[in-house]
Amino acid sequence: MEERRYPEGQGPSQEEMRRSNLEIVTGVTCPFCGCLCDDLEVVIEGGRITNVKNGCAYSLAKYLNYQRERLLKPMVREGEELVAVSLEEAVERAAQILVDSIYPVLYGWSSTSSEAQRLGIELAEEVRGAIDNTSSVCHGPTVEALQELGHPGCTLGQVRNRADLIIYWGSNPLQSHLRHMSRYTIGAVGRWRRGREDRTLIVVDVRKTYTARVADYFIQVEPNKDFELLTALRMALMYEEIEQERVAGVPVEAIEEVAEILRGCEFGALFYGLGLTMSSGKNRNIDAAISLVRDLNRWTKFVMIPMRGHFNVAGANIVFLWQTGYPFAVDFSHGYPRYNPGVTSVIDILSRRESDASLIVASDPVANFPRRAVESLLENPLIVIDPHRTATAERADVVIPSALVGIECKGTAYRMDGVPLKMKKVVDPPPGCLSDEEILHRILEEVRRLRGE
Ligand code: SF4
Repeated sequence: MEERRYPEGQGPSQEEMRRSNLEIVTGVTCPFCGCLCDDLEVVIEGGRITNVKNGCAYSLAKYLNYQRERLLKPMVREGEELVAVSLEEAVERAAQILVDSIYPVLYGWSSTSSEAQRLGIELAEEVRGAIDNTSSVCHGPTVEALQELGHPGCTLGQVRNRADLIIYWGSNPLQSHLRHMSRYTIGAVGRWRRGREDRTLIVVDVRKTYTARVADYFIQVEPNKDFELLTALRMALMYEEIEQERVAGVPVEAIEEVAEILRGCEFGALFYGLGLTMSSGKNRNIDAAISLVRDLNRWTKFVMIPMRGHFNVAGANIVFLWQTGYPFAVDFSHGYPRYNPGVTSVIDILSRRESDASLIVASDPVANFPRRAVESLLENPLIVIDPHRTATAERADVVIPSALVGIECKGTAYRMDGVPLKMKKVVDPPPGCLSDEEILHRILEEVRRLRGE
């Protein structure tokens, strides 16, 4: 454990802390959403987390409930039952399944450390499997479009200090990323912005969300018409005539008014969520958004940042990229990385019933995947590495419990703007629970031993 201290003059005295067996760890990075808030203070009493300061309701819930529904013993399936075994036995069984498999799939990777992600790719290459992360079903279109076109981005710190115009498109941070607006955008006091009175908020969504209720301008777009609205906004920016009264349900006068506001800002930031990436058009929507932001840079400074969900889903894309050249859905069955989303993405492989074994790390596809993909997943040997009891773990053939990254073990994670941050260990994991990184390292070594390498 590291960095146990508390700002002088605040909190209990050293003597009080010693007497009550109290520790406070400061500068903790929250392992929940893509904001990766790194200013948490975690209070530990008698080895248990009892409070979290600076966090939002989600982080508090995660820290106070991290011991619930835990997997504590490695298990392997004997008939209908999962039977507790030693870690060595579970690792050996997992490695044997992967070695015996012709085309395994390795999925999850967004709620673990980048060190574990790196080992996952090494393992996928070793067993000639397909490896995919959860961005396949969320911001996959974003990474596809960003890879094709590039994009003007910046750090969240730049937005906090400089942005006077914020757009949330298909994203509702007041319910999904609770501190995003107070820490980085509308409510944040930056070096050159004093807070709410210095910033304009525009929300584009299909319904009046909580975030839309506090916006200066709310644009209600018809479902699946984001591409049309983005195109109309680009036309209005260029002073081109729009020969319609409404586009995507929005009056043309309103589109022209918003275009004027966008042109007139000093520093604008577009944050977009699954409402844009997963509506009709998908990566073409992101192409259009990139084009809009590129156009805006003729008049002013404008950037865009995706609102990433899982705390290290951005890391999964980044690590996959620097290891293989591709951000998700990477297939090693030919001995080298191939990338063809829709073909090499794990849901598609499972739906075509092509794989013959699976390794799931820190994810619960049985609870989330389409029925056909789940049926295929359960037809073949299934290995799960996870801290918690999940629907997928309940159906697995090998279950290996792991320590929670950012709570019980350290690691690296990438924030939604691509900034890497250190995750701290604040309490000990349950006895015998190793980090995902250590477990994957052992499986990889065992796979190589079984293959005589
Ligand atoms: S906004 Fe996200 S990262 Fe920040 S404290 Fe809340 S859950 Fe954690």
